[in-house]
Amino acid sequence: MITALYPGSFDPLTHGHLDIVDRAAGIFDRVVIAVLENPSKQPLFTTGERVAMIRESLGDRKGVEVSTFSGLTIDFARQVGARVIVRGLRAVSDFESEFQMALMNRRLEPDVTTVFIPTSLRHLFLSSSLIKELAEFGGDISEFVPANVVGPLKQRLTAGTPRP
Ligand code: ADP
Repeated sequence: MITALYPGSFDPLTHGHLDIVDRAAGIFDRVVIAVLENPSKQPLFTTGERVAMIRESLGDRKGVEVSTFSGLTIDFARQVGARVIVRGLRAVSDFESEFQMALMNRRLEPDVTTVFIPTSLRHLFLSSSLIKELAEFGGDISEFVPANVVGPLKQRLTAGTPRP
């Protein structure tokens, strides 16, 4: 039984993330999506909101769980019994920092291996921050994020709505 941890900000979840989840779920027995509580980042959605949206987007997918974590990813990987950390790779620009993180995590815990899953071509330029910009300026985000994310995203980015 191999558990894979898929950590990230998911602020908000996009089809790019879901694609990685689906492919990881096709390889590993159990996938734990872990939403990072990062006090140094100013998120658009609280971790609770992100978890709820991810759960709703997942529908009846089997073998996929969602939780939150703070602190070191590797500590949370140990906590959930994960032998694998999954990260998605888009352009070359993702590579350097991801490689650095993977090596550091390996140093901290040699029994946990980072596995990179390359993005699908159609999600190559998709990122949560780009989606937020697009939504903020009234662009159509419906093809980039799950249906249940569209409403909350538009609502949160409406002028005057305070960020959490
Ligand atoms: P982080 O703040 O950890 O980068 P993100 O939510 O931006 O959190 O991303 C989480 C993971 O999902 C990362 O491994 C990232 O590379 C991957 N990811 C994000 N967008 C895409 C995409 N469009 N295609 C494939 N992987 C993606």
